Amino acid sequence: MSIKIQNLTVSYNFHPAVHHLSATINQGQWLAIVGPNGAGKSTLLNVLAGIITEYEGSIKGINPNNVAYLPQQTKLDKDFPITVLELISTGLWQEIGFSGGLSDTQIERCMNALEAVGLDGFENRQINTLSGGQLQRSLFARVLMQDQQVILLDEPFNAIDTKTLTDLTLVIKEWQNKNRTIIMVTHDLEYVKDNCPTSMLLAKECIDLGSTKSVLTKENLDNAKKVSEAFDENSAWCIS
Ligand code: ADP
Ligand code: MG
Repeated sequence: MSIKIQNLTVSYNFHPAVHHLSATINQGQWLAIVGPNGAGKSTLLNVLAGIITEYEGSIKGINPNNVAYLPQQTKLDKDFPITVLELISTGLWQEIGFSGGLSDTQIERCMNALEAVGLDGFENRQINTLSGGQLQRSLFARVLMQDQQVILLDEPFNAIDTKTLTDLTLVIKEWQNKNRTIIMVTHDLEYVKDNCPTSMLLAKECIDLGSTKSVLTKENLDNAKKVSEAFDENSAWCIS
């Protein structure tokens, strides 16, 4: 099923963060969302994940119960006392609720997910002892546990090592082979050009949407920058 966004406007205190956005995202599509800081990228993912529920316009073809969401790492409390196994098993909350323990089969699924992201043996580690790359691997394992049709990733490769980036890209490609819909926010235009077949360039409004090659042109990027400077003097491309 494709996701159809029509004339979406999302505001904070009456200031629109996403403005008159219309887009269709097909099942099985790997879409990169790129745009300047403050362009509304995380806001859009929060709406698709069902976390933000107040907006104008309509969104069809997506059910928050069928979405796996990996939020921006800065939003995570890394000092929360929880082990890797506990973290990734929260991906099963729809199955187990908040009170139930894990069955042997579920523990085995957790172990398989950890193995798939290169973290076997890490199940009892506290998350505050993990490196940035290891934490990101754990969050990908949690998405594997959720096993949903639509996968939302918000800057999944910020501040991680090259090996983790390569390994987790393989995990995404597996999802792609299974016809999952992957919507990924990132700053890394080179990564997008090398990996993501389609892109949306967002600057509150949608500047362009289509094949990555046709979207990431100098003209479009300049235009996005101009539009964003018009709404915020300080916004700029993040080069991290
Ligand atoms: P991006 O992810 O593209 O950097 P965001 O979606 O996080 O952008 O933010 C878009 C705009 O909305 C920014 O101007 C940001 O300051 C503002 N914003 C984001 N979250 C909130 C919030 N909870 N309350 C008020 N303003 C917000
Ligand atoms: Mg963001």
